[in-house]
Amino acid sequence: MKKSYFITTYGCQLNVHESEKIAGVLQNLGYQEASTLENADVIVFNTCAIRAGAEDRAFGNIGALKRLKKENPNKIIAVCGCMTQVKDNAEYIYKTFPFVDIIFGTSNLYLFEEFLNSYQGKHILRHSEDFNLLGEDLPKYRTSGENAWINIMQGCNNFCTYCIVPYVRGRERSRPLKDIVQEAKQVIKEGYKKITLLGQNVNSYGEGLEGVNFVTLLKEICKIEGDFVVTFMTSHPKDLSSELIDFIALNPKMLKEVHLPVQSGSTKILSLMNRKYTREKYLSVIEEIKQKIKGVKLSTDIIVGFPGETEEDFQETISLLKEVKFDNVFAFMYSKRQGTPASVMENQVDDKVKHERVNEVLKVAKLYKGKD
Ligand code: SF4
Repeated sequence: MKKSYFITTYGCQLNVHESEKIAGVLQNLGYQEASTLENADVIVFNTCAIRAGAEDRAFGNIGALKRLKKENPNKIIAVCGCMTQVKDNAEYIYKTFPFVDIIFGTSNLYLFEEFLNSYQGKHILRHSEDFNLLGEDLPKYRTSGENAWINIMQGCNNFCTYCIVPYVRGRERSRPLKDIVQEAKQVIKEGYKKITLLGQNVNSYGEGLEGVNFVTLLKEICKIEGDFVVTFMTSHPKDLSSELIDFIALNPKMLKEVHLPVQSGSTKILSLMNRKYTREKYLSVIEEIKQKIKGVKLSTDIIVGFPGETEEDFQETISLLKEVKFDNVFAFMYSKRQGTPASVMENQVDDKVKHERVNEVLKVAKLYKGKD
């Protein structure tokens, strides 16, 4: 009987796609997907570090694996992802959960097969801050229906004060254009109807590459023959160019959807977040998008309760939501992320207030949804 695996994925689409690579490696080695954790020979937890809550949940769920390992000591348990890219976390798991066999961070994903093959009952803990290898050559076992995720870059240079990403994924590195186009051709040939280009800040794709930017890349992909649409995530409002808006508006293969995280409607809070744009700049980009891309669907992310957010600041977020009338709003309560500047800022907001604010955002978002 074939051996099997079960992967639990926390966090963003990038992690979903990295789990597709982990699954690709396992499938290539002859494993098949298990229907439950209990049945699996290999269990992988691909973790997220973006919110303290996600980490706590992951620690709790890892703890619960102890029983399974006791029942079947041959089970291999691996924990990877952004959480274990933080050295202290990786060492904490190593010491606290001795039944976890393999621990590695995002920068060592490309070594997963080697870890699995070399595992012989002795724990593997691998931590490295060398982000040069993206692991893009790994096989992929795609799990998102007609959509194919394609990674175009890794890391981020923006250092928003609440975010751990630049520390756990390193600085921006763009993948060579020809490799991305090659992967796009392949997925179209395989029958995928939608390509979603992935990166922490796709608009700055191409930095460090000669004569290439994000629009150049989109043009090359849209030139490929076939019946498919193209979209991307995530954009940063400071980098979304008029050239890109024009291209989305005019190219029939570009999906008329833009996800543009605003995070707050208050320029004061945006500055504390180090977002590098103002409320006015954000609204002017939105206006240009609405003017040029007919029928565009707009979505955004909001963080409520960032340190220093007063009722007045929060009401600026509410007024921005009423003004833009997004089709979709993803709202989050600010949660302290150890190691980030915001975690030690003064005037942290009370949890009760955060709850009230997140509920109000969701209520207003629903009321004004796509009213334009
Ligand atoms: S742009 Fe800001 S929020 Fe997004 S990944 Fe980079 S640092 Fe994090």
